[in-house]
Amino acid sequence: MIKMVNLYSQYVEIQDSLDQSFSKIISESSFIRGEDIFLLENELADFLGVKHCITCASGTDALTISLMAIGLERGDEVIVPAFSFAATAEAVALLGGIPVFADVDPETFNINTKSAERLINDRTKAIIPVHLFGQPCNMNQLVRIAKKYGLKIIEDNAQSLGSVCRIGQNFERYTGTIGDIGCTSFFPTKPLGTFGDGGAMFTDDDYMAERIRLIANHGQPTKYQHQIIGVNSRLDTLQAAVLRAKLPRLNDWNDARRNAAAYYTQQLSCLNGIELPQETDFGTHIYHQYTIKVARELRNPLQTFLNQSHISSMVYYPSPLYSQPAFCNISKRDYDTSCAEDLSKTVLSLPIHSHISTGTQDKVIAAVCDFFSNL
Ligand SMILES: *Cc1c(COP(=O)(O)O)cnc(C)c1O
Repeated sequence: MIKMVNLYSQYVEIQDSLDQSFSKIISESSFIRGEDIFLLENELADFLGVKHCITCASGTDALTISLMAIGLERGDEVIVPAFSFAATAEAVALLGGIPVFADVDPETFNINTKSAERLINDRTKAIIPVHLFGQPCNMNQLVRIAKKYGLKIIEDNAQSLGSVCRIGQNFERYTGTIGDIGCTSFFPTKPLGTFGDGGAMFTDDDYMAERIRLIANHGQPTKYQHQIIGVNSRLDTLQAAVLRAKLPRLNDWNDARRNAAAYYTQQLSCLNGIELPQETDFGTHIYHQYTIKVARELRNPLQTFLNQSHISSMVYYPSPLYSQPAFCNISKRDYDTSCAEDLSKTVLSLPIHSHISTGTQDKVIAAVCDFFSNL
């Protein structure tokens, strides 16, 4: 079976350095808040060109803590894309906020800025753009909108760590460092993945960074002094060591996925009946997913055919978030979310990862072509 991802090949590249750092951490028993945590936070901040990095236990926690840090209150509205992983909206709802679902763009699958702007009212506190599948959102427009209405931007960068967004004419920044706070996830399959759960927040704002640090650690500036209500959300030292070993390779691995995506696009572009991922002129797509669009009536049959050909594929995501039982009664949405609706019926993600071989891709390509030639 050809799988969606293969994480073992990343491990093989870092095995030697991991053996060393793991035995050091274990011999020191520095499992919580060990040296690697602080080294990783500095290295990540340097890599991204951002002032502060604060690690935490997951990407979902990063979103929740960020919303706590901006002072989200019960009844506050936060604009999120209707087409994303649930965690984006879940964090808002968990704190008593109201997720307000904007539609997405049919080409990038990312939040539609016109839809987002339509949803702003007196209760709106923030926008959470999600850089979905490795593709940067239109941050130029989002930053302009946020400034105009005095809103915070929390970037959900769980799927796009290492992708770059052009701001203005010739100024570039990594996604996750443009809004007030950027969040990421180190879930194993994410661009920078560890051996379990993990997450981080990024900000240039000293005050925000201090609040985030407080909240993530029981609201205590020093041990047993609790200034505000916080949570226990820590990355552990072993996971930090994995991430430190992987970080120097992140750009190469992202490039490898970009190359693999270019190969798919080259080989599949002559097929009628599918739409291939599109890139924008303002962002570097790092292809966390390679997601094609297929006519509604053919999407599930194609997936079944691939499965019979021993090729995995995934539907990310099979329904817009507002139609999920958890959200349908506690959220609001734009009157027109037809793109999110349509994508949930037409998208299919093909296997892609940093170490996929051309031979493996050729098998996927051949199977997709077979399906369409047998129609
Ligand atoms: C993975 C993911 C998250 C949550 O990250 P966890 O580390 O699994 O909690 C949030 N948002 C998006 C878009 C994700 O893909």
